[in-house]
Amino acid sequence: MAVRKNPDQTPAMRQFHHFKKQYPDCVIFFRMGDFYEMFHDDAKLANRVLGVTLTQRSKGIPMAGVPYHAVENYLRRMIQAGYRVAVCDQVEDPKQATGVVKRDVTRLVTPGTLTDETLLEAGRTSPLAALAIGQDRAQVAWAELSTGAFAVADFELDEVADELARVAPSELLYAETSDGERPRLVQSLTQSLSCAFTGRPAWQFRRGDALKTLCKQYHVATLAGFGLDDDEPVLGPASAIIHYLLETQCTAQADESRIAHLRPPRRFGRSDHLGIDQTSLRSLEIERTLRNDSTAGSLLGVLSHCRTAMGKRLLRQWLCYPLCNRQEIEQRQRIVGAMIEDERFLDGLCALLDEIQDVQRIVGRIAVGRATPRDLVVLGQNCAKGLTLRDLLADRPAVASFHHQLDAVVETLAGLGTTLTEACVQSPPAHLREGGLIRDGHDGLLDEQRDLQRDSNAWLAGYQKQLIDETGVASLKIAYNKVFGYYIELTTANRQKAPHNWSRKQTLKNAERYSTAPLKAYEGKVLTARQRAIEREQELFAGLCTTAQNHLESLHALADAVAQLDVLACFAHQALKHHYVRPVIVDQPALHIKGGRHPVLDELLGNHFVPNDVDLGPRSSASDNGSRTPTNTLALITGPNMSGKSTYIRQTALITLLAHTGCFVPAVAATIGLCDRIFTRIGASDELHAGQSTFMVEMTETANICHHATARSLIVLDEIGRGTSTLDGLALAWAIAEFLAQKHPRTLFATHYHELTALSQQYDNVINLNVTVREWHDEIVFLHRIVPGATDRSYGIHVAKIAGLPERVVERAKELLGQLAVSHEATSALDPQPAQLPLFTEYVQHPALEQLSQTDLNNLTPIQAFDLLRRLRQEMDG
Ligand code: ADP
Repeated sequence: MAVRKNPDQTPAMRQFHHFKKQYPDCVIFFRMGDFYEMFHDDAKLANRVLGVTLTQRSKGIPMAGVPYHAVENYLRRMIQAGYRVAVCDQVEDPKQATGVVKRDVTRLVTPGTLTDETLLEAGRTSPLAALAIGQDRAQVAWAELSTGAFAVADFELDEVADELARVAPSELLYAETSDGERPRLVQSLTQSLSCAFTGRPAWQFRRGDALKTLCKQYHVATLAGFGLDDDEPVLGPASAIIHYLLETQCTAQADESRIAHLRPPRRFGRSDHLGIDQTSLRSLEIERTLRNDSTAGSLLGVLSHCRTAMGKRLLRQWLCYPLCNRQEIEQRQRIVGAMIEDERFLDGLCALLDEIQDVQRIVGRIAVGRATPRDLVVLGQNCAKGLTLRDLLADRPAVASFHHQLDAVVETLAGLGTTLTEACVQSPPAHLREGGLIRDGHDGLLDEQRDLQRDSNAWLAGYQKQLIDETGVASLKIAYNKVFGYYIELTTANRQKAPHNWSRKQTLKNAERYSTAPLKAYEGKVLTARQRAIEREQELFAGLCTTAQNHLESLHALADAVAQLDVLACFAHQALKHHYVRPVIVDQPALHIKGGRHPVLDELLGNHFVPNDVDLGPRSSASDNGSRTPTNTLALITGPNMSGKSTYIRQTALITLLAHTGCFVPAVAATIGLCDRIFTRIGASDELHAGQSTFMVEMTETANICHHATARSLIVLDEIGRGTSTLDGLALAWAIAEFLAQKHPRTLFATHYHELTALSQQYDNVINLNVTVREWHDEIVFLHRIVPGATDRSYGIHVAKIAGLPERVVERAKELLGQLAVSHEATSALDPQPAQLPLFTEYVQHPALEQLSQTDLNNLTPIQAFDLLRRLRQEMDG
């Protein structure tokens, strides 16, 4: 009886299972001929994710394939969908193979370890982070394989989520636990970070092993030279990163025990930067808008005029990590100022920057052995630009530090540039498979093989002519294909004219194909010459990559200078185009902005945007005029919905943030005192977190502010308390405002609880502001102008009318408002001394209270609660 062979036991499938066992978390792309095939569950996944057809290999083995030449595109889609891929290639020439061709995993493609141009977004970083969780602290390391940047930091546990939101990793490594569960902190991070989470063996995070790994990576005996102690907890995640990078880069590295271009880890100090938590990062729309999560319409989108990809990535970093050090901020300001004053210089710089490509990432690819021919050519051209850039910066005191930095490296880089340019053609092929990168005349051995090919091409033309003469068939042609090699082709009609000594190779519908002894000999000669030429080019290419690698540090210096100059030029451009001014940075907690504008709305609305002032904190002695007015630290802003309260407080936070990056600001004048952190609590309705009520989110965020704000912080709060009932909300808003008034951080508090305006009578440092509204017949006009004083009306019905509520409803509401106002007549006055609590007893008779007491709060959705609150509010305001 015939035994049915197990289809999974063929040699190729055995290889597949071997690699699948080795990389169980990866999709295996298994090279077979011109395709990468996927099997079993991987095939079903590919069918779902990539939309490729699901077929069967032998009986019962699901299979799906993608053509090898388009593999990068499919890899990108797999990564975007959050999967990791092990690319399994044929590592010997199938023609030479005896038995099954040898295969090996040549690269692991994971979201955090990408270097290929096609897989990465040019203007965005794509860091790999690792997290080690201790008793009450956590350590984080993050690196970028594509540029070699590497940082480590030690945080309190409750700071990790905020800091990782700023790092925005593409992939996060954590130590696997023995029970296979993700640690609690990692579980909660999966809610706030949209990245891949990858568990790694716990030993890779251990401190003892970590020191060894890091010393080996940097060829040092101790890490003291990098400012790190040899037993620091941060070494754990740093070493986990190195292990992972080595594993994912597989054999691509020349020296497999290290990642050549990874720079020594830089210690990230929280206090070196302005603190921005993830809520503020989101609600201030620094890199993405809340509404549709796009860069367009965000602060980054408005400023993003950088000329190079390196500048674009650095700009994001500068916006997410503003400085805290006055001297460093002023240093950036001086350069921006100098660029603004000399527009010719700025234009010249921008024109040069336009020509500079992504040197950082090219260097990264060279270091991990994944450079393309084009990378070398571009690098050669860019090296020469270093000289031009240095000369452009000469004799300009503001940019002397950059001039100095470049002066030290550009001469040697120019040498590298010449080597590369002399060796390579100007328009290289996309890959080296077919050769064509190295110029003729550069290498004797290569030229010899190429000449051999060219001579034989001439022979081929001659031979074809000879055969045409011999057979008398003018349409006879000699051609080549991969399967049959060279062949002579006659149309079927001329078939009889083939001499007997021709051997038949293939019969087609309309043609017959043959070979001859001389043609076979020719083929051998040509193919050998071709093969040798390609091999020689690959050798030369590897040599040029090594030469470039020897210039790693200089190339990093050039890339760093270009990126920084690019961002500074972008700041200068923005200032010139949109009339930004240089803010005066002071150490005292001041915040004085004259004619401030919202950077995004300012561009959208142009002249229609109404600028506004802010005056909080001490005035510098020069502008004090000897007046004895008390220092205001908290401004309560009242005004109807849609009047511009939210815009005002956001623009103030954004101007403060911009000032800390060294950028000029959209205002007529500004004095900004250094801040330690910016806190925001904005927009309750648009952040319904999974499993948490709007109110819970609002209170959690406010609690965080109350705990962490210092007298050096800036706080902007929008509509605190609107997520709960009127009384609760008012009481909470009151208590929070009081708390902040006593703690003295600079605070902008937008609210529609007019009652809060009484606080200014109790605290010297509290002022009232309101947004002006003009009533015109029965209409209101929003003037968007912030003026001192409190408002006493919310204009809710007017706003509802503008929003398109049916006329009947609006009229009825007005009628009701009139009635309610009469019944409420005596109850509107608020006692400015809340400590005695008449504030709340005043409401006891109010019909709104009765309504409230009848409401089942547990069965309200956040939206219904908000609606109820608004209704009650309107009744009370009446
Ligand atoms: P509020 O917070 O008071 O409800 P917003 O700040 O959301 O109001 O502003 C509502 C709209 O008014 C904005 O979308 C914008 O179009 C416009 N607006 C706000 N501030 C200004 C301003 N200073 N100048 C011009 N238009 C403004």
